[in-house]
Amino acid sequence: MTTFFGHPRGLATLFFTEMWERFGFYGARAILIYFMTARIAQGGLGFSTSQAAIIYGLYLSLVYLLSLPGGWVADNILGQRKAVLYGGIIIAAGYYLMALPGLVAFYGALTLVVLGTGLLKPNVSTIVGGLYAEGDPRRDAGFSIFYMGINTGALIAPFIIGTIGEKINYRYGLAIAGLGMTFGVIQYLAGAKHLGDAGYPPAPNPIARRRALIAGGVIAVIAIVIAVLASTGVISAKGISDGFGAFLTILTVVVFSALLLSPGWTPVERKRLAAIFILFLASAMFWSAFEQAGSTLSLFAQRNTRLSVFGLGFPASWFQTLNSIFLVIFAPVFAVIWVKMRNREPSTTIKFTLGLVFVGLGFAVLIPVANGTAVSPMWLVLTYFLHTIGELCLSPVGLSAMTKLAPARIAAMIMGIWFLSISVGEFIGGRVAALYEQFQLSTLFSIVALFCIACAAILVCFNRPMKRLSGGVN
Ligand code: GLN
Repeated sequence: MTTFFGHPRGLATLFFTEMWERFGFYGARAILIYFMTARIAQGGLGFSTSQAAIIYGLYLSLVYLLSLPGGWVADNILGQRKAVLYGGIIIAAGYYLMALPGLVAFYGALTLVVLGTGLLKPNVSTIVGGLYAEGDPRRDAGFSIFYMGINTGALIAPFIIGTIGEKINYRYGLAIAGLGMTFGVIQYLAGAKHLGDAGYPPAPNPIARRRALIAGGVIAVIAIVIAVLASTGVISAKGISDGFGAFLTILTVVVFSALLLSPGWTPVERKRLAAIFILFLASAMFWSAFEQAGSTLSLFAQRNTRLSVFGLGFPASWFQTLNSIFLVIFAPVFAVIWVKMRNREPSTTIKFTLGLVFVGLGFAVLIPVANGTAVSPMWLVLTYFLHTIGELCLSPVGLSAMTKLAPARIAAMIMGIWFLSISVGEFIGGRVAALYEQFQLSTLFSIVALFCIACAAILVCFNRPMKRLSGGVN
């Protein structure tokens, strides 16, 4: 049997599926704020900056939130294989729809991308895991290769979708995102035979089906009511966002109260759940700053940064490639550093603290130039560098900590909780970006930087208690 860098051949199929999905996702994300804020005469939607930022935050928050039901539907009804296929088709349809004129098409398209990504993203990773037998030593390396697929897609997207979107027409750029996902789906279908036994549907489960239908129906009715109220002007984007924020808060409180107060845990498990809660808060805070990459920082690129180097101009969306470039370079470096430090390797809490410090520093370095115009592009390069270092301290570590701290029987749910923390972060980030024109930028960046560093200071005080709560897990 042929292999892919010494790994099961199915890894190549999933690598390219996810590469194309992320290509569309990060390409669309790179131009979304520009598309929404550009005047209608310039091919944009003519939204105010604050409305655009609120919608950006809502959209991304929903993308991550929907990966929870997406994982559940695959586990209980569809199986991961079909979930990825249907997800890919829905995403492609979404981007094509986004390229059509009119607000109904735009919001409908965002909804499709949210639904499709919820089906595809968590499940494609699950199939990667399913390619390896238990105890196969190649598993971690397999995930690292897969992560390169993610970042290859994200790395090239700004050059193609960003350039076409900004220089020719935003809608053409979005259609290219759809085309990318279409390639991904075709490639997935052609390569499905290599996936072995992974991802087939579970035995038919009428109870799960009924639950899914009822929940899906209730959500569809709520979505339609909101859409009607919004289109008739009864509620604004901010009103929807306020409601969604309240929903996320209640969801977080209910989930963690139910978990922590449930009587079935051993003392060790209960302490670990408390540790997960602390990491959850830190993670949400981190992503709320980091994910302003495509909102606050994109606006800063477009409005306050000189878009040329050595006399050669470039589109503002190209800054979005930097995170992936730095990640591809430094991910292996970090892997080596942690291994080299062996016994002196910092705890998860310290790594999270560093993540928060770096993301805060990324904003702090912009403070002196924040109120300038046509500032050197090197400032944003530095910011994205610091943000990537922060990401490398926190993101892979967070994923692995969740798997280690989770009581085994709720491992999938704890993964969902990690996605929920990103969803909360995306939401807060959108609301912060909505203040872009309300504050002087130096003030806005100072507030974000201070918040991150204050959270880091609080978190570091928890280092010792966290060791006790984590019960032997680092
Ligand atoms: N960049 C990674 C991806 O797209 C991780 C993003 C995240 O966890 N917020 O999958």
